[in-house]
Amino acid sequence: MKSSKRLARVFLVLAVVGLVVLPLAAIAAEQQPIAKSVYAVMAGDLPPMTSNSAFWQGARFFPEIKERIRVPMFYYLIKTDKQNILVDCGLNPQSAAERKIANYSPPDVMLGKLGLKVSDIDTIILTHGHWDHADGLEVFPKAKIYIQRNCYRWMVEGGPEFPLFRKYNYPSKKMSLAMLTLMWDGRLKLVDGDAELFPGIKVIEIGGHHQGLQSIVIETKDKPIILTGDTVYSYANLEKDHPIGLLQGDLVDVVKGVERMRALNGVLVPAHDEKVLERFKPVDKNIVQLYP
Ligand SMILES: [Zn+2]
Repeated sequence: MKSSKRLARVFLVLAVVGLVVLPLAAIAAEQQPIAKSVYAVMAGDLPPMTSNSAFWQGARFFPEIKERIRVPMFYYLIKTDKQNILVDCGLNPQSAAERKIANYSPPDVMLGKLGLKVSDIDTIILTHGHWDHADGLEVFPKAKIYIQRNCYRWMVEGGPEFPLFRKYNYPSKKMSLAMLTLMWDGRLKLVDGDAELFPGIKVIEIGGHHQGLQSIVIETKDKPIILTGDTVYSYANLEKDHPIGLLQGDLVDVVKGVERMRALNGVLVPAHDEKVLERFKPVDKNIVQLYP
């Protein structure tokens, strides 16, 4: 009798563990941030910009800034146990040559320094559709691309509808057609507003600089890493508490977006500041480790 009661108790405990504890543990494991490491890679330099581009009405508010400001372009690698995710994707070699990009480094060379081939990239999260962030798409044949629906709509419809924007190729026709091709190839994933794309890897829709621009929040064991996209060009935008220039959307969206990102109490990484290469751990020339 006694032993059968004991046996029943053992079964009860096993059932509780099986039905309650293990599923909870599985959920907890799933909710663990998955980013193992995060890198920033410099793609090359845009032509230096004026204070009016760097800061909203910069010449008026900062007349002391006379010199043009260097504008390095960055993209980012998030490594997880299962995935290699890029945020933005640099430039392909042909357009870098056509545009005479200074200090250009091709994605295959830079990712090679991090032990990866371009075909190892599964996912690209685009902050927005400007060529200095998205031109390298064709270098990555297998990746699924995540952008905001509002970003896509601007690129394929909202922009090209107007003669003014067609005249200045803004958004670029090449990027616009690339979006449609990716859609027909089943590789484009449209995101509607704020979302957690993967455990601990979130996007927040900000707009402002570009319709449907999204910033990326990467949860870590420490503070979150926040890839601002072009909502913040440089540390100076944060330190002077002054928004960027060069807006094709709403200035208020930029200001709200910066407030939202600051409230997350994370590490904000500006999109075009050479100091990113100084403030984080160097891995190779023009590559720094943002985490761990
Ligand atoms: Zn940019």
